[in-house]
Amino acid sequence: MNVQSINEIQRFSFDNTNVRGERVLLNEAYQEIIKRKQYPEPLEILLGEFVAAIALLRDIIKVDGILSLQAKGNGFLSTLMAECDEHQNLRAIAQWDESQETPDAISLKEALKGGYLVITIQPRKGQRYQGIVDVAGDTLAECLEQYFLQSEQLPSRVWLAANGAQCGGLFLQRLPHEQAKQGDEDAWERLSHLASTVKEEELLGIDTELLLHRLYHEEEVRMYDAKAMQFSCSCTRQRTLDAVMSLGSEEVREILIEQGKIKVDCQFCAEEYEFSEAELLALLGDQAKTH
Ligand SMILES: [Zn+2]
Repeated sequence: MNVQSINEIQRFSFDNTNVRGERVLLNEAYQEIIKRKQYPEPLEILLGEFVAAIALLRDIIKVDGILSLQAKGNGFLSTLMAECDEHQNLRAIAQWDESQETPDAISLKEALKGGYLVITIQPRKGQRYQGIVDVAGDTLAECLEQYFLQSEQLPSRVWLAANGAQCGGLFLQRLPHEQAKQGDEDAWERLSHLASTVKEEELLGIDTELLLHRLYHEEEVRMYDAKAMQFSCSCTRQRTLDAVMSLGSEEVREILIEQGKIKVDCQFCAEEYEFSEAELLALLGDQAKTH
């Protein structure tokens, strides 16, 4: 398969060990996200890391619903949010201080200045659960490793990369001892050490089978079915229009007097919806007649 057409996540494990892994590689799904706004280049890269991270998290924390990863801070970056649902639909957005000069490279810690990460698990049925992660490490990968250690007490390693065209990630985790198989006690050390040699070009430039072969050609790797991932936001023009109309006739007319039209950006995907005065007045006229 042509690497540039891959948008998928794939699980793998190692026979006779208690180590499992995930690999994600996204092309179009990532490009669809970053082309929605004029992001400064370093932010496209950080956003790509978040998208790869939420894809990995979603496949690890299996939940029938939506998983989101949000960064909040007081630096150059005010919000960065990535979301993924059980059908591998991805969306993500970042908001930054456009009055500040864009740094050449953005370290998560500096960009958020005293900020934190929130992981939200929102099942279709039942209670929402939130976990807070301090931005202690410099990279998102380090923060996530910390999260898994805190929340699940499972040693985990995460590698993330993005370059404005592709984003990708690799994840390894040692499962609890009761699930450990006999005979390979040092597997975790060996397998995570081998993965730590992974290069950015490999994370972004080769398919999962070849990547795992390069890292683990002497190991018994078992690969599971890959799952396709895509960009998708649940916003629609009609839904946005309904939200505008729910402001009430008076408010809508006031905005029209001030601005001549109403423009709404989806806060999850940056899609812009514009409603003309004629369109809105026609609807308000209809409402006046029917009510
Ligand atoms: Zn949207």
